[in-house]
Order: sequence, then C-alpha cells, then structure tokens
Amino acid sequence: MKKRDYYEVLGVARGAAETDIKKAYRRLARKLHPDVNPGDKNAQKKFQEIQEAYDVLKDAEKRRAYDRFGHAGTAAGFDPAAAGFGGSSSGFGAGAPPFEGFHFESGDLGDLFGDLFGRARSARAGPHKGEDSAGTIEIPFRDAVLGGTASLSLRREKECPQCHGTGRAGRVVCPTCHGQRVVAEAEPIKIRIPEGTEEGARIRVPGKGAPGEGGGGPGDLYVTVRVTPHPYFERRGDDIHGVVPITVKEAYAGAEIEVPTIHGLRRAKIPPGTQGRQKFRLRGQGVKNPRTGQTGDHIYTVRVMVPRAVTPAGLDAATLLDSLYDAPVRKDLPRGL
Ligand SMILES: [Zn+2]
Repeated sequence: MKKRDYYEVLGVARGAAETDIKKAYRRLARKLHPDVNPGDKNAQKKFQEIQEAYDVLKDAEKRRAYDRFGHAGTAAGFDPAAAGFGGSSSGFGAGAPPFEGFHFESGDLGDLFGDLFGRARSARAGPHKGEDSAGTIEIPFRDAVLGGTASLSLRREKECPQCHGTGRAGRVVCPTCHGQRVVAEAEPIKIRIPEGTEEGARIRVPGKGAPGEGGGGPGDLYVTVRVTPHPYFERRGDDIHGVVPITVKEAYAGAEIEVPTIHGLRRAKIPPGTQGRQKFRLRGQGVKNPRTGQTGDHIYTVRVMVPRAVTPAGLDAATLLDSLYDAPVRKDLPRGL
C-alpha cells in the first residue's frame, strides 16, 4: 500500500502552523484511538497512520526532511547529510525509526489520554498511575487552628459482586447493578488536619484517587478545606481577633481581666484610661503557621459597657465623670464634608 502524504493524513495544509498540526492530530487521535474503537482493525490502522504522520510533522527537523525528500526523508537509515541535507542526523537516520507501533510520548498523548482514557487504557500503554481526584470538606474552626482529624466517606466504584462485572444475570440485566457492571461503595477515610490549616487549603491524601491500570499505583486525593466560622474568634492570617467587654471603672481605673484565646483564658492588664475600641495584643497566642512555624498573636478590642439601668446615683456618678474630661470629646471631628 502506497503511503499517504502526512499532511493529507492529518488533513492540514503543507504550510500549517505547529499548533494546527497538533490540534488536527488530537482531534483525530480522540476519534481513532484503539480504546474507543476496540477490535476495529481499520481504526487501528488509521490511528497508526496519524501517529506516524504526527511523529514527523511535529518535529521541525523531521518535517523539513519530509518536506524535502518525502517519505524517504523519514525512513530508517536515511542519512540527511548524505542526501545533501544539512544539519545533524540525530533524531532520525541511524537511530530508531521514527515510528514503532504505538509509541506514546508524554506531553503528546500523555495529557490527551490522561483525561479521556484514564480508566480505559490497556496494558499496551504499560502501567500508569490512576487519576487524581478532588473533594471538599468543611471542618470546625477549632480543628483548623489547632489541628485534628476529619472523617469523610469516599464513593468508589467496584465490580458488581452479583454479576461479577458482566452486567447480566443469565438472560436479564443484573438487578444489583442494573447492567452498569459496577456498584458504588463507600470507603471511610480519615484525614489529618495540620495545625493552622487555612480556609481554602488543599490537603493531599496519597493513594486515595482513582485506581491505577496495568500495575500502576492509585492517584491521589486532593481535599479543599472549608472552615466553619467561629461565633466569637475571627482569624486574620495567623492572628486571632476577639472583642472583650469591660466596665467603665475597668476602663478608667485599669484592671486585670481574663481574655479568651484559642489556647484558653489568658490574664491581661487593662491600663488606666483605656478607651473604648482600643486594641491590645497577646503575643504568641494566635495560630501557628504550618509553613513558617511562627505563631501569630491574639488581638482583642475592648468595648466599654455602660450600665443600662439609669438611676439617680448613676446620674451623679456620670455627671462627676463628665466634669473630668480635659477637652470636649468631639473636638477633633470634622464639621462635614
Ligand atoms: Zn451486576
């Protein structure tokens, strides 16, 4: 059988750009791959043909030789130097022929069939790792900042135990898998949550992706973490923020109070003359960053509480306090825009 022109095989013009050649090849490879056409000899032959054509046309040097000498330029043993073709003969010539059965190069077919034929690839392609899979879990605030474990259930497909993967029970469709040949199975797994895990973090769980083929290991599972917000503590980076109510006397006279942190209660001093909304910092009482190993701070904002009950005694005390300001409290405010 006379060899067809490589450009014709891929359905591209002679001057086609490299990207168009790749596109054309991918389109045809998807259509003609043996895994999509099991037992189809014609498709197999065509697949070999496009594979061979692409092997030559994707390679600038081989393509030049082909453009100049036709199929002879890509044949095993062809010496471009002897044929008057400048440049080295590496890549073809004395080395391996440009095409040998199904020979896949990663990057060409690797990524293409990774998504399309991850499950269907045959032993011919050799052992390969299973697909990675992804999921999301929501974890409590406490586990995210201090670390912990999360449990989740993976849904896996396994061969139907009723029909042993045939999809049939005698002459009818298997009632267990409804002809799907596989049934879903839940696999409980535990994930270690490292201390300081942030919202949106991805945790890799090795070996919990899709199973491999032909002796290849399973893929990995990537779990994206969502953190349930805490009703009191708020995390900003490695710092934790919280609001602490204090009395008028504590603010005015100063006090020692207990401040809740994610590590428990900490005693802290409120200096005399503390103003409402003033912020204080407790060093090292925040979140330990899993990357840097550094621990953030606990920052608390005080909120001065005024007694709700208004009494004559309270009014006397307030009036007395009012006389003690050294300047009007609103003197620094703008008068408008
Ligand atoms: Zn079944």
